[in-house]
Amino acid sequence: MLCNLSSKTKRILILGAGFGGISAANLLRNNPTIASKGHQITIIDQKDYFMMGLVNLWILNGIRTLEDSKISLSKLEDKGIRFLHDEVTAINVISKTVTIGRASNLKLEYDYLVIALGAEFALEEVNGFSENGGINLYDADQIPSLREKLLSLKNGRIAICITSIPYKCPPAPYEASLLINDMLLKNGSRDSVYVDIYTPTPIALPVAGTKISQSVVNMLNDNDIHFHPSHKIKEVLDKGKIDFENGKRVDYDILIGIPPHKAPVVIRNSGLIKQGQNYMSVDKYTLKTEYENVFAIGDVNEIKVNGNIFIPKAGIFAEAQAKVVSQLIIDDIETNNLSLSSSRFDGKGFCFMETGNQQAGYVAADFYNEEGPATSLESPSKESYKKKIDFERRRLSEWF
Ligand SMILES: Cc1cc2nc3c(=O)[nH]c(=O)nc-3n(C[C@H](O)[C@H](O)[C@H](O)COP(=O)(O)OP(=O)(O)OC[C@H]3O[C@@H](n4cnc5c(N)ncnc54)[C@H](O)[C@@H]3O)c2cc1C
Repeated sequence: MLCNLSSKTKRILILGAGFGGISAANLLRNNPTIASKGHQITIIDQKDYFMMGLVNLWILNGIRTLEDSKISLSKLEDKGIRFLHDEVTAINVISKTVTIGRASNLKLEYDYLVIALGAEFALEEVNGFSENGGINLYDADQIPSLREKLLSLKNGRIAICITSIPYKCPPAPYEASLLINDMLLKNGSRDSVYVDIYTPTPIALPVAGTKISQSVVNMLNDNDIHFHPSHKIKEVLDKGKIDFENGKRVDYDILIGIPPHKAPVVIRNSGLIKQGQNYMSVDKYTLKTEYENVFAIGDVNEIKVNGNIFIPKAGIFAEAQAKVVSQLIIDDIETNNLSLSSSRFDGKGFCFMETGNQQAGYVAADFYNEEGPATSLESPSKESYKKKIDFERRRLSEWF
């Protein structure tokens, strides 16, 4: 029985070719067992290209262009990973099938399913935002025109608004404000432009704790960026005004938003979100869902650490979880007994927080630390900036 099953060709389906999905596909493909036994790896995405989220900030400050940053997902085919450019429209964990394509309704069967569909944006939930010229910092396509707008602003107010939590890469809005500060300095307009950053939370980075939050606020203060905690947008009005739920009204000339996030529609429509939760539930160590051979990695899952702290939505965690799940699948194929695998997610991650002038701080976190989440921040340096550049370069060369 064990022999028959382990020699049978398995169909591994990965939904979403983002940070987590691409890492998982590569780790599986590079494994000798998977390669030699002809197990099939299929990855599906509605986009036909990959670009790391952090590149948005490099397009913003002009060190990259949007066109130069997109990598065709069809390159995965050269590595023996089957890529389907299509939309996932339904997931049925009982019949073990995934439906793709609105028109074709093609059904794919799987032996293992890795759900890595990320999170969707929901700016429509912020009254008046899009109608009144708000720009989504997290939508790469909007960044080139944001850059133009910032460079042509000679005086006025820039409002950067975190609209709700959780959102991807918690330090990113603060990085953006510091990079904008740098751009305006170089442009000669900094003295006549106010930069304000608003967040609904009482501290800058709840997930990193009060100490790091204060260090971030100090960095903002040092650069004359005004930090406004406990400001949740109620409504964006025409004529450049924002009303907040705390009763304050402020002016803006350029409004930059970090959108509300939600689980992808196909996950919600397929009944994969439990009542009272916003994302997929998984085992915090194995990323297994309650459904047989179904794993959920990256932004699409929610892993509570303690209190109101959840594993942040970040590529580094999507990648770490991809490693765990790939090894679990490999071990299960080899032994036909998932419980024999020791592959476990350790809750550790890091990120480089850019501060302008080609410098970056280094934030490290251990969310499963026994005494509670442990985080640290190293002061900005040129060395960490170089490591951030290398972070992207190394992964792209491994993956494509
Ligand atoms: C400005 C910015 C800066 C960031 N900086 C960092 C950083 O410095 N470090 C870091 O670790 N993280 C960073 N992140 C966060 C990081 O990009 C995400 O957390 C990471 O991409 C999550 O990986 P994922 O695989 O879960 O989802 P994603 O990478 O979002 O991939 C999900 C994929 O699923 C696809 N998809 C969704 N629904 C469907 C469907 N129905 N059918 C087919 N395909 C579908 C999407 O097209 C997408 O390609 C940053 C993000 C932003 C926006």
